[in-house]
Amino acid sequence: MVTDAHTPINCLWCGKTIPGGRRGHGHPPKTCSEECRKARASAREKARYRRAKDTQKWQETRAAYIEKLKIRTAQDPVFAAAEAQRQQAIRDRYREKLERDPARLEGYRAKQRAWFHNLTPERREDERARNRAWYASLTQEEKVLYYYEVRRQHALNQLLALSEELRKKQ
Ligand SMILES: [Zn+2]
Repeated sequence: MVTDAHTPINCLWCGKTIPGGRRGHGHPPKTCSEECRKARASAREKARYRRAKDTQKWQETRAAYIEKLKIRTAQDPVFAAAEAQRQQAIRDRYREKLERDPARLEGYRAKQRAWFHNLTPERREDERARNRAWYASLTQEEKVLYYYEVRRQHALNQLLALSEELRKKQ
């Protein structure tokens, strides 16, 4: 029987030789470590998503899903609350991720500014009205929390700008 158990195999993610310990169970391993396996799987998943997301079938499925979500949200307050919480958690995670990476955060902000800048005056006014309505819908307690969040964000931005300045001086 031909076996490749002792020929070096290289990691399909980082290219290093896969250590012997990872071999010997069924399929030959494709990556050298758990980190490489995860990184490769995530890159493959992203590529699959990029290929699929512009197809008509994908867009139809997505539109149907959003429509179903809308109906259920309108009919079921418990579901609506859970969904709002889930969406908020996604936004929080995304924001935390951005805050850990100043360059990405600045890129994101520039995109937001450009988006707002390119709106028609009417759409811009709509956005402002939406924000005002959102703020008006907050309870007094939430307004206080929001106020502290804005101050925290402002302090964080100043810190980031300062560390960026220091980094440039070095
Ligand atoms: Zn590797």
